Amino acid sequence: MKRIQAAMHENLMIAMDAFRKLPGKKMQAAEMRIREIIFLKYQMEAIADQKGYSQACRNFIPICKGECCKWHFPGNLTHLDFFAAIFDMSEAEQATMAELILNNHKHQCPVLLETGCFLSFERRPVICTNAYPCFHDQSYWNAKERQNILFKKAFDSLEAIVPFQNDRTVE
Ligand code: SF4
Ligand code: SF4
Repeated sequence: MKRIQAAMHENLMIAMDAFRKLPGKKMQAAEMRIREIIFLKYQMEAIADQKGYSQACRNFIPICKGECCKWHFPGNLTHLDFFAAIFDMSEAEQATMAELILNNHKHQCPVLLETGCFLSFERRPVICTNAYPCFHDQSYWNAKERQNILFKKAFDSLEAIVPFQNDRTVE
């Protein structure tokens, strides 16, 4: 668990560092990619909604208590996931999330609070939006795989715009 926390924290630091240093023009281009990612996420969420998954989760949460976020967490979030997540956050909120990741030992995902995910629905990572482990269904899976091609394109483009420094030195 400590290894997951350290890796996530490092990726968040890379994202925060890039965010602070990004010039205005590049920031606008990055924002367009992030809006694209959010749009794609909403499309996936709409499919989940049509299939009744979203409502089924809402109904079931008092019983499952968000078991998926507690134990089926993907293991890490990339610097790109974090960059998209922090885009509309103040620096104070970013710092709070960094502290939470290092100190939250309760669940496998250190972004999870007693009240749910620290991130808003819009900022929830793609991998979390796409995960409906309890309602596995092939047509949802197929739609997700098709959408993943578009997600990858948007993330690749974001990576090309933002000069992330994986070997950064913390100031
Ligand atoms: S996917 Fe399953 S465990 Fe997760 S919130 Fe929905 S019902 Fe609960
Ligand atoms: S980032 Fe949020 S939605 Fe994703 S696993 Fe963690 S708590 Fe759940």
